Amino acid sequence: MSKLAIVTGASRGIGAAIAKRLAAESCDIVVNCISSVEKAEAVAAECRDMGVNACAMAWDVADYDACKRAVQQIQKSMGTPEILVNNAGITQDGLLIRMKPEQFDRVIRACLTGTFHMTSLVGAQMLRARKGHIVNLASVSGIAGNAGQANYAAAKAGVIGLTKTAAKELGSRGITVNAIAPGFVETDMTADLPETVQEEAKKRISLGRFGKAEEIAQLAAFLASDKASYITGQVIAADGGMAL
Ligand code: NAP
Repeated sequence: MSKLAIVTGASRGIGAAIAKRLAAESCDIVVNCISSVEKAEAVAAECRDMGVNACAMAWDVADYDACKRAVQQIQKSMGTPEILVNNAGITQDGLLIRMKPEQFDRVIRACLTGTFHMTSLVGAQMLRARKGHIVNLASVSGIAGNAGQANYAAAKAGVIGLTKTAAKELGSRGITVNAIAPGFVETDMTADLPETVQEEAKKRISLGRFGKAEEIAQLAAFLASDKASYITGQVIAADGGMAL
């Protein structure tokens, strides 16, 4: 029987690459987004073309009731997820002293609170099934901090703490929980960075280039597989050697 995977924020970028990678490995897929329903439908269609069951579903991971409704509906129509990838996230950069409280909260809610909502709801189902793999998207900003990203760095540091705690709480039932900390990856999130900022960033990356979404997806698929059955509570940097 195919494994069922929920990938949040999978309408584009890293999430879309993860959804397609998992579909290529025969997983059924729930492709979540918040508003780009057509893009999510297109990703689900690409997954179905690989011979698996896939559907697109829009809900806001920051909204607990919406997460609860979605998770119940998925359980009813597709079964218990064996894989959860908490990938949905946003940035809203600005210097700390000028950052508006709403700007801070919005990023915390999408990146961190959303990861908590989905982990607690899906984690409960995984506990009953006594199996599961959860992969959270953190960031090198959550490890090292980043000027202009107080909200995002705090959220991603929170994701790392949540990952380690969930690994400790869920491990006795065979559930693994790990985080990936990407550096710069070519997606909409980094596309708007000025050319000069991109060139400066590349100088700090040992491999001299930004990562591709597929390179993060390969790691996510590994952590979500039984090949990584003895790895839990870890934060794996995929940053081309930027944090060295
Ligand atoms: P992206 O291209 O901007 O895509 C973001 C995805 O998240 C979209 O599918 C978006 O849906 C969805 N989303 C945003 N807020 C949501 C919410 N509240 N509920 C549900 N879905 C929501 O981002 P990305 O670059 O692929 O990044 C994916 C993850 O990797 C994020 O967690 C990001 O922080 C992390 N990351 C990225 C980089 C990088 O360089 N790109 C580096 C480190 C970490 P819609 O299409 O409907 O808006």
